[in-house]
Amino acid sequence: MNAPAALPELVEGSAILTEKFESFQGEGPWTGQRCAFVRFSRCNFRCGFCDTPESWDWSRYHPTEVSERVPVTDLVSWVGERAVDLVVLTGGEPMLQQPAMAALARGVKPAARVQVETNGSMPPTPELVSLVDLWVVSPKLANSGMPYATRIKPRALTALAETGRVAFKFVVTDPDRDLDEIAQLVEEYQLDPVWVMPEGTTREKVLAGMDALYAPATARGWNISTRLHILTGAR
Ligand code: SF4
Repeated sequence: MNAPAALPELVEGSAILTEKFESFQGEGPWTGQRCAFVRFSRCNFRCGFCDTPESWDWSRYHPTEVSERVPVTDLVSWVGERAVDLVVLTGGEPMLQQPAMAALARGVKPAARVQVETNGSMPPTPELVSLVDLWVVSPKLANSGMPYATRIKPRALTALAETGRVAFKFVVTDPDRDLDEIAQLVEEYQLDPVWVMPEGTTREKVLAGMDALYAPATARGWNISTRLHILTGAR
């Protein structure tokens, strides 16, 4: 399939989304909070454990079938109708569409806070920095299958850390291997605060991962995140 040629173009005033839905935040510092999710299509990474391949894997999905262009004004209205005070911009990698993110954030504030979930490979524009209430940055480890030089971008990590409204959340597949790697990144790039979260798309795997993580994470002074949407069967 020659799918990339069919990718919809980015157009000012609209966003290309994989989906949008109302639920609660399942991960990270704001776990459990009701929110509206806006999942942006496209990603600049190709992680082996990705649980949203429909946002970027054009060898498996046709982009015109799994994404839609939505005017930002429509998105703002949709968020308003949800009557939530939190909007989560996620992906894929939402930072590939920063102008649309900023327009959406401008439209939903001050009624709603804006949280961004990003892989931390792109620095935010100053305007976006001023609009986002919490950056949840998930630098990828070797377990993602991505080359180091692609997944670790010091300038972007520094810019996100300097916002002062950030949490660094790492996906752990094997604590014996991954925690030392996280510690190296934390030390080298002065990442703080740190959250670790088990990889898994089944209740059993998430619970087993939390069991394996809580003691070593606590010993290192890190926070631990569950995946509440997996445990509850929510979206
Ligand atoms: S950065 Fe996130 S969305 Fe992109 S491929 Fe990796 S896990 Fe999937």
